[in-house]
Amino acid sequence: MNKITNHLPTEELQAIDAAHHMHPFTAGGQLALRGARVITAAKGVTLTDSEGTEILDGMAGLWCVNIGYGREELADVAARQMRELPYYNTFFMTTHVPAIALSQKLAELAPDNLNQVFFAAGGSEANDTNIRLVRTYWTEKGKPSKQVIISRHNAYHGSSVGSASLGGMSAMHAQGGLPIPGIEYIDQPHWYAEGGEMNPQEFGLERARQLEAKIAELGEENVAAFIAEPVQGAGGVIIPPESYWPEIQRICDAHEILLIADEVITGFGRTGNWFGSETFAIRPDIMTIAKGLSSGYAPIGGSMVSDEVAEVMAGCEFNHGYTYSGHPVAAAVALENLRIMQEEKLVEKVQDVTAPYLKQKWEALGDHPFVGEARISGMMASLALTPDKGARAPFAAPSGTLGYMCRDRCFANKLIMRHVGDRMVIAPPLVITKSEIDTLIERATRSLDEAYAQAVADGLMVAG
Ligand SMILES: *Cc1c(COP(=O)(O)O)cnc(C)c1O
Repeated sequence: MNKITNHLPTEELQAIDAAHHMHPFTAGGQLALRGARVITAAKGVTLTDSEGTEILDGMAGLWCVNIGYGREELADVAARQMRELPYYNTFFMTTHVPAIALSQKLAELAPDNLNQVFFAAGGSEANDTNIRLVRTYWTEKGKPSKQVIISRHNAYHGSSVGSASLGGMSAMHAQGGLPIPGIEYIDQPHWYAEGGEMNPQEFGLERARQLEAKIAELGEENVAAFIAEPVQGAGGVIIPPESYWPEIQRICDAHEILLIADEVITGFGRTGNWFGSETFAIRPDIMTIAKGLSSGYAPIGGSMVSDEVAEVMAGCEFNHGYTYSGHPVAAAVALENLRIMQEEKLVEKVQDVTAPYLKQKWEALGDHPFVGEARISGMMASLALTPDKGARAPFAAPSGTLGYMCRDRCFANKLIMRHVGDRMVIAPPLVITKSEIDTLIERATRSLDEAYAQAVADGLMVAG
């Protein structure tokens, strides 16, 4: 088959890219200087760049290509659906077969009481839906004062005005006049960085109880919902202490507020179950989904809502929706993705075989002199780099200096591992095999060794 990919020389592609393409989360000046890496093809867990270099994608794109690259079945379904019905909307009492079939499949896969989905084109849009949904829900229930949503510092819920406000990323709030009113924040359950002298379980309880204190401070009659990622992803793969989620669930049960689990990353097998809510025994009223829903092959997301929420919302016309809510091609691709995941028992394989294998090897990286902590949940994992293992100490150098250095070594060693400050994170495609895990660990170890040697040579192994 003829390739669509433009095969201009890399430098020309980079120059055109720098001249005309504004990148997300990228410093434009840096990009123009260094040139973006041009990815031209991918198969399984392996990316190919415009120089022909093959790179192991330890991040599944942006935490989304759960099923791996190059699945012909998804391409075929997309082409067939485009020929049959490329577009129609789901507004004003119309629908189409792909959206019907996908919503039925999602109701089957999601926890018991979540049986309806409001579609969006991604996670940010779905969380924007959630802001309006929970506020409208309480208004419909005759409690219009319940409008405040409680979130967490360092949460990531998307990049639109609404969803970035819902998130707790200070660098994002600093640009464009965020957050919008009516969002409040509690601290994150990040024991390694913020736990001080407390043990993890005490700390988990302390952080969960901030929710109860915040509800009391705001007045329960003013609080609509609490939103959280079961495991913080973009914040640095922060896996909460075991005590955290049961206490959050207790607080949500004791108070009349909705619980929104943002499962955009943790959904669709990432933590070894279909949803992170199962892994952490959470009973959400609303679940945000995207990313792994289509394995990134088409842009689609949504909000899954409980029977109770659906029933209340059915009482009004929700003046909300996106042109591409339930887009037929994206829905057909997502449905095929889920069909393959079920047929190949991908989630079971992660749970029983590959996640335990990765866990054993990943946790061994915790012995490296550069690493203060190695944590993993299913197929998402993090390392905290440190100048002083015993003390969980941060570096004196600005946050991210050492993480960036390590990430650069990973690139050089043909591994995509992302850094969040001085934490290194991975979330590989769920189809990764044991031998590919061996390769990932080999390359990660080599990169840690090299970055550590450089940090020592540069005098950067100093606690701040
Ligand atoms: C990526 C992400 C989002 C935003 O999804 P987009 O599809 O980029 O809009 C929301 N929540 C979480 C937890 C995410 O990781």
